[in-house]
Amino acid sequence: MNNTEQQALFIIFGGTGDLAQRKLYPSLFNLYKRGYLKNHFAVIGTARRPWTDEHYHEVIKESIADLSDDEEKANDFASHFYYQSHNVNDTNHYVTLRDLADKLDEKYGLCGNRLYYLAMSPRFFGTICEHLKTQGIITKNGYNRVVVEKPFGHDYESAKALNDEIGSVFPERDVFRIDHYLGKEMVQNILAVRFGNSMFNAMWNNRYISNIQITLSEALGVEERAGYYETSGALRDMVQNHILQIVTLLTMNAPVSYSAEDISREKINALKSLKVYNADEVKENFVRGQYGNVAGLKAYRDEDQVASDSMTETFVAGKLAVENMDFAGVPIYIRTGKRMKEKATRIDVVFKQMPVVVFKDSCLKSDVLTINVDPEPGISIQLNTKKVGQNFDTESIDIGYSLSDEQKAEMPEAYERLILNALRGETMNFARWDELSYSWKFLDSIRKAWDDEDLSVVAFPNYACRTMGPKASDELLEKDGNHWEF
Ligand code: NAD
Repeated sequence: MNNTEQQALFIIFGGTGDLAQRKLYPSLFNLYKRGYLKNHFAVIGTARRPWTDEHYHEVIKESIADLSDDEEKANDFASHFYYQSHNVNDTNHYVTLRDLADKLDEKYGLCGNRLYYLAMSPRFFGTICEHLKTQGIITKNGYNRVVVEKPFGHDYESAKALNDEIGSVFPERDVFRIDHYLGKEMVQNILAVRFGNSMFNAMWNNRYISNIQITLSEALGVEERAGYYETSGALRDMVQNHILQIVTLLTMNAPVSYSAEDISREKINALKSLKVYNADEVKENFVRGQYGNVAGLKAYRDEDQVASDSMTETFVAGKLAVENMDFAGVPIYIRTGKRMKEKATRIDVVFKQMPVVVFKDSCLKSDVLTINVDPEPGISIQLNTKKVGQNFDTESIDIGYSLSDEQKAEMPEAYERLILNALRGETMNFARWDELSYSWKFLDSIRKAWDDEDLSVVAFPNYACRTMGPKASDELLEKDGNHWEF
């Protein structure tokens, strides 16, 4: 057997859903194409609909249609999929599921290895986990790992309750909480840039860094997710997970080794160092926004399933303070929103200006290290150099690295990478419970301050579609003498 091949039975709860069809099946197919999945794997898709295996195979082939024109390969891949009509609250259905799982284990030689992917609403996680245990679906001879999706709670208390439910069945090492940003190539590259280059390593502190900026902007609005978004908002949807994970990777101390345990320890320390704001500090350091309409694009409040007086924020900007030796005094500006000018995920590390300007008439700019996560993965550095010519003038130039087309084609998609990590038992790119608990506590303080605020003073909508958010977001930096680099 090829030593990169993984042996496992996937049981996907929510097998007819959007996530499964758009992300999971294509990712599994890519793993199959690359040889990580070959002969020794099977997938049981479960959901309420009464589908047959034949229909399920058609759905699978449809979801991977863009990835292959090799019909034989697509057919062989789809033949590993089995559909089980299942209501997660019906105990009898788990008995049928166990029998099918055991049969497939034997048929494909899966050694009892099982990966349970909960691609459905978190309100079902508790009952699913409990039934997996009581109905004997959890095997004794192989591994049993559970993969869960965001949102993981809507505040600290609910996240803890959810974690307790899952934790009563699965030990922490077997719980894989997806934050798909941690599966992105350039997010993973943060540690390589920081800890692989003495130049940056030496300068990665408050002596040299002026400020750090993180932007996760989306061009789309809420689309079909308005029902969920109304109860979530940008703060819970993007800041608690993706943005705070990026903040920790940028501000954590060097881990002793590149291992899940050592990295998580430092990430937790970085999160513990985040200043938790009181209500006045939230007002001073956070901006919320909601998009209004422009020609051809609806305002948030006019979207389907959104209340006409909704106070849900579709934009957040904030200034975070990391109170550790290296980052005390370095503002970490974050920004995320919907219906912004363009879709981008980008990190700008802005270095301090030279303490003395030798070239009196020159206009030196700050050095900036930019990590482009999406849509064009790459890294660039903005530097001052001499302008060509007789006079001694300076100009700012960009040195850039972007992925070649070949590299981009080779680059695994975030879900593909994370599923392989889960199959290999690698927890590094998943959010551990301690990380989540600190990030929720930080977030709850902001949410509480906003919820207690007199809503009549919050003038929504306050930014137009296709802009970079409300004016107050720019002012947040301007009052520190800074500006958004992007
Ligand atoms: P979806 O509504 O498209 O799918 C939900 C699935 O759950 C369906 O297969 C449905 O049949 C099944 N289901 C619902 N109630 C059931 C029951 N009682 N018994 C058995 N099956 C039942 O949702 P989705 O978009 O696929 O999202 C799934 C989860 O992943 C959600 O928690 C969501 O927040 C999260 N998520 C989704 C995306 C995405 O891109 N879709 C991204 C990030 C996180």
